[in-house]
Amino acid sequence: MYHFLTELNMRVLVVEDEESIATAIERGLIKQGYAVDVARDGAEALDKATVNNYDVICLDLNLPRIDGLEVCRRLREDRFGGGIIMLTARSSIKERIEGLDYGADDYLVKPFAFSELAARIRAIARRDGGLREPVINTRGLELDPNTNRAKRDGKDIHLTPKEFALVYYLARNEGRAVPQEELLEHIWDEHANPFTQTVKVHMNNLRRKLNEGFEEQLIETIRGKGYVL
Ligand code: CA
Repeated sequence: MYHFLTELNMRVLVVEDEESIATAIERGLIKQGYAVDVARDGAEALDKATVNNYDVICLDLNLPRIDGLEVCRRLREDRFGGGIIMLTARSSIKERIEGLDYGADDYLVKPFAFSELAARIRAIARRDGGLREPVINTRGLELDPNTNRAKRDGKDIHLTPKEFALVYYLARNEGRAVPQEELLEHIWDEHANPFTQTVKVHMNNLRRKLNEGFEEQLIETIRGKGYVL
């Protein structure tokens, strides 16, 4: 019963270029009640992870365009907070170690039984269930950092992980003007170029989504000081 409850609302991305394996995993996971997307190469995986919020990514390492290790590294660099399970060949011990160093949580050696993959996903779901950050409720906004889901006055607002991280950070610092540099430091990584328009662009998108259809504008810009919720 517990398993059934944890699997509700879980969204999984399967990254696998071998059609038959991808389809088998996809079908199996759908049967277990997960929402499942499939990416056929590393670039598609990164695109999908930017747009959607996944709880777990099952990541084949040997992939076209961008290999799995690099995908793993970039996901963590981009603060992907869900679980990553690598799917590896038997011979690739070095890759497995590298993957774990890059922030993968677990691995499975091919060929594996589907039931084992399902068990690893459940283990990650339980683990993440134990490390929950607080849900924030303020000014009609409900922000759940465990699912990256945002609502305003009960209406779902679909945010990218970055947009969610921005509004969550502002909500944790409600009433204080947060400088752009502080947002860069906390939400991007040390490689982000402070001279780019990154924060502004994401902030504009975030505002548009949050304020659409509402009279009260939620995020203010205070010239020279930063952004305040
Ligand atoms: Ca492959």
